[in-house]
Amino acid sequence: MGEYYPKVGACYDEVRETEKIFLIYTYKCNASCSHCLTESNPQRAEKIPVETAKALVSEGRRWGKRWLMISGGEPFLYFEEIVDLVSHARDQGFYVCAGTNAFWAKDEESTREKVGRLKEAGLRALFPSATSYHSPYVPTDRVRLLDKICQEFGLLCEINFYPSPDNDQDRRIQKMLGLDQRVWYTDGLILTGNDVTSLLPLFPRRKPAELDDCGSVHMAITPHGDVICNCNVTYRSTEFYGTPFYLGNFHQTPFGELIQAQYTSPVLRLLTEQHHERVHQILSEDPRVRDRYLAVHAGKGYYSITEYYLDVFRDAEYLAVIEEAGAASLVPLEAAPLPAMPQMS
Ligand code: SF4
Repeated sequence: MGEYYPKVGACYDEVRETEKIFLIYTYKCNASCSHCLTESNPQRAEKIPVETAKALVSEGRRWGKRWLMISGGEPFLYFEEIVDLVSHARDQGFYVCAGTNAFWAKDEESTREKVGRLKEAGLRALFPSATSYHSPYVPTDRVRLLDKICQEFGLLCEINFYPSPDNDQDRRIQKMLGLDQRVWYTDGLILTGNDVTSLLPLFPRRKPAELDDCGSVHMAITPHGDVICNCNVTYRSTEFYGTPFYLGNFHQTPFGELIQAQYTSPVLRLLTEQHHERVHQILSEDPRVRDRYLAVHAGKGYYSITEYYLDVFRDAEYLAVIEEAGAASLVPLEAAPLPAMPQMS
């Protein structure tokens, strides 16, 4: 049953946002979906070398990270490297999950062999995407087969689905994957990336007071080396530059310093340590910005909380007020140690 962020499953259970790494291993993809957030396609060449990815994981662990999502593009274009990375992350104590479009689930025998190897390497969950945007490139049969084989191996399989203008095709996919009988996952609409015009009428806009957060404020790493504290990263990610979400580039700054910048940012701490409505509350109450905010932004509609945050963070006066309120209300860092590293069961 699709809900507005069901908040159950591998992305939510037993992990805090500050402990996550969302790694875009490559922008390359066998598909080129018209709506793709990362503008991935077969011509894209950017990827993170596997040894670099392993070093990032090891450094992340030293700083309290313990949950890794391997995404793309299509990471399983590099199957052997992903097995190596999963195994390394598992050995470091990470809960490891991965996204895929399931192109590689071509037949029972090879899918069983691959899922078996991933499970043995330590993968804990797979998130295949199945929508009418994907189905011209990857038949939904493959997602169904992958789901079935994951069940055989006891590997958690959470399906990402969202509606399209093609109702008949949507119903076919939902029926084929039994989505009426299980939780499926979707996200707020992100307006950057490829063309999402056809999706605009299908996704609701919500006012700031109504916006929920799926847990988007956690560390993402792109094949360009950008490290951004938001998992809605895109191909260029320039919309995050100059905002508190942008931490830097690991080619220029040691990764450990970027993680410390995440942990010490008053704005990022505010977003993760307090409830996600806090920004709206601060701007609605501060006498310096309240009138303008209530007149211009409080009644505006947003497709996602990331779109809202970026909108208000681009306003220097708002950002100063949020930073000030954050710094004043947060527990000082010396009294609030960096995230503990509980062992995964
Ligand atoms: S949406 Fe997924 S499957 Fe489609 S092009 Fe983008 S990364 Fe590839």
